[in-house]
Amino acid sequence: MNLIQSYTFNSFQENMYIISDETHEAIIIDPGCSNAKEEYIVQAYIEKNKLVVKGIYNTHCHIDHILGVNFAKNLFEVPFYAHAFEERNFSAEAKAIIQMWGIVCPDIKIDHYIKETDKIMFGNTVLDILFVPGHSPGHLAFYNKAEKYCINGDVLFNMGVGRTDLPGGSYTVLMKSIFEQLFTLPDDTVVYSGHGNSTTIGFEKQYNPFLI
Ligand SMILES: [Zn+2]
Repeated sequence: MNLIQSYTFNSFQENMYIISDETHEAIIIDPGCSNAKEEYIVQAYIEKNKLVVKGIYNTHCHIDHILGVNFAKNLFEVPFYAHAFEERNFSAEAKAIIQMWGIVCPDIKIDHYIKETDKIMFGNTVLDILFVPGHSPGHLAFYNKAEKYCINGDVLFNMGVGRTDLPGGSYTVLMKSIFEQLFTLPDDTVVYSGHGNSTTIGFEKQYNPFLI
């Protein structure tokens, strides 16, 4: 059984997730911790629950989702995994946009590229990987079929959808990802997003103003 701990961090109010199971092995998804206090919160949670972090996995590499990557990599001595297409977010063009927002993009290395045919495995847990581009070119979602939840980053929100105006974004592609990859999951799948409250596939199918 998975324990899903979320924290809302940094000035973008980004949700990071720590997922663990009964073996005490854990993974970190989208570490957005951006200062000493937020880093302390993450470290304290891991230590208090005696978790062994096995890896850092990102749905995508926009700035608000990567601010804590180097902190977590160094502290837990684990690799950083993301889709190869997310390298685009570290391009000069993308970094220039981030700089306009008054933020310096940290130097981050994706240690291993992952894609939709891979699986994330830790402890007794297996997560399927869905390829859901549109908000970002290499956007992934992490789906636990057995426990009926999906960590979907900035693709689908509670009553919203991801923005598509950043480099590599496409509204048409985003809609295709939502309708073909997410809306084909069971209606009672809980969706954990990169911003805002969790929701379910069934609720969004029925009420999301962007999708009905
Ligand atoms: Zn994003």
